[in-house]
Amino acid sequence: KAKSSGRSTYAFYSQELTSQARQRVELVTALRQALEQGQLRLHFQPIYDLQTGTISGFEALVRWQHPEKGLIAPGIFIPIAEETGLISAIDHWVLEQACNQAREWLGQGHPLGFIAVNISSRLFGNGELDLQVATILARSGLEARHLELEITESAVMQDPDAALELLQRLRALGVQLAIDDFGTGYSSLQRLKRMNVHKLKIDQGFVRGLPEDRDDAAITRSVIGLAHNLGLKVVAEGIETADQAAFLLAQDCDYGQGYGFARPLPADEIDWRPSELCYGQACRSSGR
Ligand code: C2E
Ligand code: MG
Ligand code: MG
Ligand code: MG
Repeated sequence: KAKSSGRSTYAFYSQELTSQARQRVELVTALRQALEQGQLRLHFQPIYDLQTGTISGFEALVRWQHPEKGLIAPGIFIPIAEETGLISAIDHWVLEQACNQAREWLGQGHPLGFIAVNISSRLFGNGELDLQVATILARSGLEARHLELEITESAVMQDPDAALELLQRLRALGVQLAIDDFGTGYSSLQRLKRMNVHKLKIDQGFVRGLPEDRDDAAITRSVIGLAHNLGLKVVAEGIETADQAAFLLAQDCDYGQGYGFARPLPADEIDWRPSELCYGQACRSSGR
C-alpha cells in the first residue's frame, strides 16, 4: 500500500516537473522570439537631484510586451535570460536603445545628465564589455560621460581581479560607474575603494523603513557618509514617501529615485518638471 502511494507521489511530482520544464522551454523560446520580433520595451525612471528637485538622469528598465500576456516585468524573465545566456543579447539591445534615447533627449535640448543601464553579471564577465560599450557609443553619437553603467557587487565578486581591470578600462572610456543595490552584496570596503566607481545606489530594502526604522536610518546615514568620504555620489532607490525623501535630503543624499517621484515610464510619457516631493511639508520641516 505504502509502495503504491509512493509511486503516485512520484508520478505527481514528475508530472509537475515535466510541465514546469516545458513551461520554461516555452518561455525561453518565446523570449528569444520577443527579442527578434521587437517585443521588448524600455521604460525610464527619473532620478532626481534631491537638493533641487530636478531630473538629473534616468534608469533604463526593460519590459516585455507579450502579445497575449501583456507587459511582463523583468523580475519574471531576467533570471531566465541570465541562466540561458540570452541576457547578453538583451543587455546589448538595452544599451543601444538607451544611448539612442539619451542622444535624442539631448538633441531636443533636455538637460540630461546621465542615462543609467543595468549590466548583468554575464555581460560584465564576458571580457569585452568595454569594446561593446565603445562601439554602441560611437554608433549612437552619445558622449561617454552621459552613460552610466550599474554594476552589482556580485558581478564584481565573480572574478574580482578581472573586474577591477574592466572597471579601469570602462573608466578610461569616460563612462560613469555605479554600484547597484549597494548593501545587499558582500564586497569589502577595501574592494569598494579599489573599484573606484562614481556612485553608490542604496538598495530600496534600506529605504523602505525610513525614517522610523532605526537600523535603516543608521545604515543609510552610514552609507551616505562612507560614500562621501570616498568621494562618491549616492542615489537612494525606492523612495515612496515625502518623509523618506526628507530624511535622505537631511542626510545629504545626492539623488533619489522611486514611485514617490515617478514610476518607470515610456520615453514619451516623461514629465520633465521638477518634483514636488521635496517641497512638501515633510521637507520644509526637515529644515531645508
Ligand atoms: P534595479 O536595477 O534595482 O531597479 C530598480 C527596481 O525598483 C525597478 O524594478 C523599479 O521599477 C523598482 N522601483 C523603483 N522605484 C520603486 C519604488 O518606489 N518602490 C518599489 N517597490 N520599487 C521601485 P523593475 O523595473 O521591475 O526591475 C527589477 C530589476 O530587474 C532591476 O532592479 C534590475 O536588477 C533588473 N533589470 C531591469 N531592467 C534590466 C535590464 O535592462 N538589464 C538587466 N540586466 N537587468 C535589468
Ligand atoms: Mg539598477
Ligand atoms: Mg537598483
Ligand atoms: Mg534594487
